[in-house]
Amino acid sequence: MQIDEHIIKRLESAYPQDILRWAHATYHQRLVVVTSFQPTGIVTLHMLNEMQIRPTVITLDTGVLFPETYALMDEIEARFDLDLIRVQPELTLDQQAAIYGDKLWEHDPDQCCQMRKTRPLEKALQPYEAWITGLRRDQSPNRANTPVITWDKRHHMVKLAPFATWTEDMIWTYIHAHDLPYNTLHDQGYPSIGCLTCTRAIAKGEDIRSGRWSNHEKTECGIHNI
Ligand code: SF4
Repeated sequence: MQIDEHIIKRLESAYPQDILRWAHATYHQRLVVVTSFQPTGIVTLHMLNEMQIRPTVITLDTGVLFPETYALMDEIEARFDLDLIRVQPELTLDQQAAIYGDKLWEHDPDQCCQMRKTRPLEKALQPYEAWITGLRRDQSPNRANTPVITWDKRHHMVKLAPFATWTEDMIWTYIHAHDLPYNTLHDQGYPSIGCLTCTRAIAKGEDIRSGRWSNHEKTECGIHNI
């Protein structure tokens, strides 16, 4: 499905608040936010809360997230009174290990991400017509051309990145200005946080996503492959 060029052009230079307001006015209950409670997601949830817009929020609980991430999730859920769905994989970790072998993330992280992230998300997105992500162009070369709005062929729905044009600094300035909670691992060298099995702290000067799947070529979990 094509999105109107006029809308693409208008949203490209709009403020994130205006994009979020437009998305809510256009899709109502058919709009969903997907977040892993990274800084951009927290800013998104705060802006929506300030505008008293309460879409359903989906997060992927792979079962191997950091304790700090679970604690933050609980805190934000309570603070913003979120309508939060914690989507879980079909297989428990034990069932996955019994079928595919122990620590699948070490020998086949693509398959592990497919079972614990991409497939559960595909199913969870089915009732909706548009999803909001925290993608930004400055996060990695792969994301440099992220559109603010696009047709997501894979999920058959509209995909929005209201903060596509924001930078890491802008996000942190907003978080500190509003005294928002964030994952304490960010203060310990983790700029991007996923599953604890596949995320490490990075050294100064390293790419901000280099701590993800650092023993593999893999750079994305796959949920944003269109
Ligand atoms: S990030 Fe690692 S543990 Fe998490 S789903 Fe992907 S491969 Fe599995």
